Amino acid sequence: MAVRLTTWFVSQGISISGSNSRRSHSNPRFSFASSSPASSSSSSSSSCKLRHRNLSCTCLQKRQRARKKSSQEQSSADFLPSGEEDSESETASVGMIPLLNSESVSDDDVNTINSNDSISNALTTSDQAVPSDLVGMIRNAEKNILLLNQARVSALQDLDKILSEKEELQGEMNALEMRLAETDARIRVAAQEKVRMELLGDHLNQMRNEQNFNGDGAETSNGVEIFESESELFNEEAPLPYKSSINSLVANLSSLRLENVSLRNDIQELREQLSNMKNTDERVVMLEKQRSTLDSALKDLESKLVVSQEDVSKLSNLKVECKGLWEKVENLQVLLDKSTKQADQAIIVLQQNQEIRKKVDKLEESLEKANVYKESSEKMQQYNELMQQKIKLMEDRLQRSDEEIHSYVQLYQESVEEFQDTLNTLKEESKRRVMDEPVDDMPWEFWSRLLLIIDGWLLEKKISIDDAKALREMVWKRDRRIHDSYMACKEKNVNEAVTTFLRLISSQTSSGLHVVHIAAEMAPVAKVGGLGDVVAGLSKALQKKGHLVEIILPKYDCMDYDRVRDLRALDVAVESYFDGRLFKNKIWVGTVEGLPVYFIEPLHPDKLFWRGQFYGERDDFKRFSFFSRAALELLLQAGKKPDIIHCHDWQTAFVAPLYWDLYAPKGLNSARICFTCHNFEYQGTAPASDLASCGLDVGQLNRPDRMQDNSAHDRINPVKGGRGLHSTLNFHSKKFVGILNGIDADAWNPATDAYLKVQYTANDLGGKAENKEAIRKSLGLSYADVRRPLVGCITRLVPQKGVHLIRHAIYRTLELGGQFVLLGSSPVHHIQKEFEAIANHFQSHDHIRLILKYDETLSHSIYAASDMFIIPSIFEPCGLTQMIAMRYGSIPIARKTGGLNDSVFDVDDDTVPLQFRNGYSFLSPDEQGLNGALERAFNHYLSKPESWRQLVQKDMNIDFSWDTSASQYEELYSKSVARARATIRP
Ligand code: ADP
Repeated sequence: MAVRLTTWFVSQGISISGSNSRRSHSNPRFSFASSSPASSSSSSSSSCKLRHRNLSCTCLQKRQRARKKSSQEQSSADFLPSGEEDSESETASVGMIPLLNSESVSDDDVNTINSNDSISNALTTSDQAVPSDLVGMIRNAEKNILLLNQARVSALQDLDKILSEKEELQGEMNALEMRLAETDARIRVAAQEKVRMELLGDHLNQMRNEQNFNGDGAETSNGVEIFESESELFNEEAPLPYKSSINSLVANLSSLRLENVSLRNDIQELREQLSNMKNTDERVVMLEKQRSTLDSALKDLESKLVVSQEDVSKLSNLKVECKGLWEKVENLQVLLDKSTKQADQAIIVLQQNQEIRKKVDKLEESLEKANVYKESSEKMQQYNELMQQKIKLMEDRLQRSDEEIHSYVQLYQESVEEFQDTLNTLKEESKRRVMDEPVDDMPWEFWSRLLLIIDGWLLEKKISIDDAKALREMVWKRDRRIHDSYMACKEKNVNEAVTTFLRLISSQTSSGLHVVHIAAEMAPVAKVGGLGDVVAGLSKALQKKGHLVEIILPKYDCMDYDRVRDLRALDVAVESYFDGRLFKNKIWVGTVEGLPVYFIEPLHPDKLFWRGQFYGERDDFKRFSFFSRAALELLLQAGKKPDIIHCHDWQTAFVAPLYWDLYAPKGLNSARICFTCHNFEYQGTAPASDLASCGLDVGQLNRPDRMQDNSAHDRINPVKGGRGLHSTLNFHSKKFVGILNGIDADAWNPATDAYLKVQYTANDLGGKAENKEAIRKSLGLSYADVRRPLVGCITRLVPQKGVHLIRHAIYRTLELGGQFVLLGSSPVHHIQKEFEAIANHFQSHDHIRLILKYDETLSHSIYAASDMFIIPSIFEPCGLTQMIAMRYGSIPIARKTGGLNDSVFDVDDDTVPLQFRNGYSFLSPDEQGLNGALERAFNHYLSKPESWRQLVQKDMNIDFSWDTSASQYEELYSKSVARARATIRP
C-alpha cells in the first residue's frame, strides 16, 4: 500500500509538469521535468532539438569570428532540422541544457550544470526531490536567459560587423563600377578609333588604287610592308606634293598603328578587368545572399530575443506561480506525510484485518470442519450406540444361539454317542453272534489238537492257568477267533503264536489303547521343528483310530496360546521331587486341535519354562529332567493307567528310567514305554551327577549297559543310540524299529489351508499361481515373469541341514534365472550371522529374499508359492518338509539321505518304478551334486511345462498322512502291551 502511495505521488508530479509540457514548445526547458513516458518521448526530444539549435547558433558566431566566409554555409545548415541532429539530441536526453551552458559559460558552470543534471535526473526518479528541483529549474532558466542575452548582444555585435563589412564591400563595388564605367568609355573611344582607322584604311586603299592606276603600280598583297615599300617608293619616286602628304599619312598611320597596339593592350586589360568584374559581381551576389541569410538569422534571433524576453516575463510569473506551487507542494507534502502515515497505519490495520480475516476464515473453516466432524461424530456416536446395541443384541443372540448350539451339539453328541454305542453293541452283538456261532466246518480233530496245544503251553508255563482256561473255553465253544488266530499263526514260531492267542483274550476286554505322549513340542502351539509335527500328527491319527491319546507338555511362556482351547488351571498342585526337595507344579488343561493336553507349570524359582524360547538354555538338562519327573508324577497322582507312555527325543528320554526305577514300583505300572528318537544328532549328554537331581540312581544308571555315554564315561546320555551308539542299538535291535513320519493331512492341506491367500487342489492349480504372485508381491520380489521358477527352503539353519549347500543354492538359483525364498533361523551364532549378511546383501534384490525367523504363517505361504523346494541335508532321520512341499505341489530337490531317501525318488532314476518318482535327488553332499539336481529341475520346469504340471499333480496326490505310520505305531504299541501282559501273568 505504501508503495502504491509513493507511486501516486510521482504521478502527481507528472500532472504538475504535465501542465508545463503544454507550453513545451514555447518554453522547452520545463519539458524535461516530465516523467510521463508518453510526454517525455515527444516533448523532451523536441526541446532537445531546439536547444541544440541554440547551441549551434552560438557556435556559428564563434566560428564566424574565426573564418567569416566558409562558416556561412554551415550556419545556414545548422538552422535546418536534420535526422542526425534528432538522433544526437535523443541520445543527449535531458542533459542538453547543461551542455548548452557548458559551451557558453565557464568551467565553474559545468560543475553546477552537472549538479543540475543530477537534479534533473533526480526529478525524474524521486518524488521527494521535486520542490528543490523547481528552484533548480528556475535557476537554470535564469541562467539560460542570461546566456540568451549574451548571445543576443554578441549577435548584435556580429550584425554591426556584418553591416560595416557590407559598407566596405559597397565601396569596393562602387569603385569597381566607376572603373567599369571608365573602361566602358575607353572601349567606346577605342571603337570610334577603330572605325576611323577603317575609314583611313579605305581611304588609303583608294589612294593606292589611284596610284596603281597612274603608274606601273605593283600589286602587293601584304599590308604594312607594302605600304612601307610603297612609302619608301613614294618617298623616292613620288612627286613632292604627294610625298609630303604621304609622309604625313605614313606618320599618321604609324601613330595609328601604335595607338592601335596600345588600344589592343587596353582592350586586353579591360577584358581582364571585365572578367574580374564578373567575378566581383558573383561575389557581390553571394555576399548579398549571405546578407539576406544573415538578415533572416538576425530576424530570427530578434524574434527569439522577443520570445526569450517574453519568457523572462513569463518566468517571473512562473516564479510567482512556482512559489505558490511550492507552498502548495509543501502543504501537499505535509498532507502526504499525514496521509502516508495514515495509509501506513491503514495498511497495518488492513494487514491486521487481513490476518484477522484469514484467522477468521481458518476458524470458520475449522468450525465448519468441527461442525462436520461434530455432526459425523454425533452420527458416529449414534451409530456406535446403535452398533453397540446391535452388538449386544447380537451377543445375546449369539450367546443364546451358542447355548442352543451347545445344547444341540450336546444332544447331537449324546445321540451320536448313543448311536455309536448302539452301533457298537450291534456290531459286537453281530460279531459275537458270528463269533459265538461255532465253527461247524472244522473237524473235531482240529479242536482237539488245539486243546492239546493249549495244555502243552500251560505245562510249559508259557501261559497261565486262567489264560489256558479262557482259551480252552473258546476252543470248547469252537470260537471263530481262536480258529482264525490258529490258522494265521500256525506257520509261525511258538512265541508268536502264544502272543497272538493272548491278544485274543486281552482284546476281549479293551477295544483301544490309552496312549500318553510326554514331549517337549507339539504343533502348532509349541513347535520348533519336525518333533512338534510328529507329536500332533501321530496323536491325531491314533485318536482317529479309536485310541485314547493324551499329551503332556511344559507350559512355555512363548507358546501360541491362541491355538489352545479352553485353557484352564486345575485346582490341584502336583508336587514333584527335584534336587532333594518337592516342588509344586501348577497343572493346566486345554485342547489343541481336538487333543487333550496337560501343561505343567513348575513353580520353581528358576522359572524353568519362562525363558522366551523352547530350547537353547544353559540348564536344558535340568529343565527337561524336572519336567519328565513331574509328568510321571502327574500320571501317578491322577491315577491314570495308560497302556503306552510315549516319550520323544532326549528331552523326555528320562521318563523311561524314571518309570521303571521309580514309578512302576509306586504303582504306575500299566504302561509300556515307547521312546522315539527323531534325531540322533541331539542326545542331551550331561555330567552323570546331573541325573541325580530328578531322583535317579546315578550309580545304577551310569553304566555302559544303561545310560552312560559311550564316548564320555563320566557323562550321562539320555538317548542311548544313534551317533556313536551303534553297539547299543545293535544290542537292543529287537526293541528298535524305524517308522517313517507322516504329516498332519488336516493341518497341511492346500485345499483348506486358512493361511493361504487362495486355496487350491491338484485339479485346480490356478490358486497356486496366485499364491506365487502374492508372496512375490509381499516380499518385494519381481513378479513380472510368471514363469520364473521360485525355489523355497524352510529349515532350521543347523549343520545337519547342509547350510553351505543352502547358501550355494541361493546363488546357483540366481544364476539359473530363478528366485529364492529362504525361511529359517539358526541357534548357532556364526551361522545366523552369516545368513544375516546374505540377507542384507540381497535386502532389496528382485529375486532373492531371506527371512531369518520362525514364522508358521509364512511357511505355509512359501510351500504353496514355490515351484521347487530344496532340502540338501547332510543327514535326515526322517524330515517333514519334503512331504509338506509335495503336498503343496512344490517339487523336492533333496539329498539322498535318511528319511529323504525313503520319500523322494528321482524322476530320472530308472531303477525306481515310474509311478513312485516324485522329485530330484543327489548323493554327494557338495555343490556339484546339488547343481546337477537343481539344473535338471530347472530344465524340466522351463522346457516341459506340461510334464512338470503332471509331476506337481502327482506329488500333491501322494498320501503322506499319518494313517500308515500311525498303524505301524499302533502295531508296535499292541505287541508291546501284549508282551507285557503275557509276562506279567504268572
Ligand atoms: P527338523 O525337525 O529337523 O527341524 P523337519 O523337516 O522334520 O526338520 O521339520 C521341520 C518343520 O519345521 C517343518 O514343519 C517346517 O515347516 C518347520 N520349520 C522349520 N523352520 C521353520 C521356520 N523358520 N518357520 C516356520 N516353520 C519352520
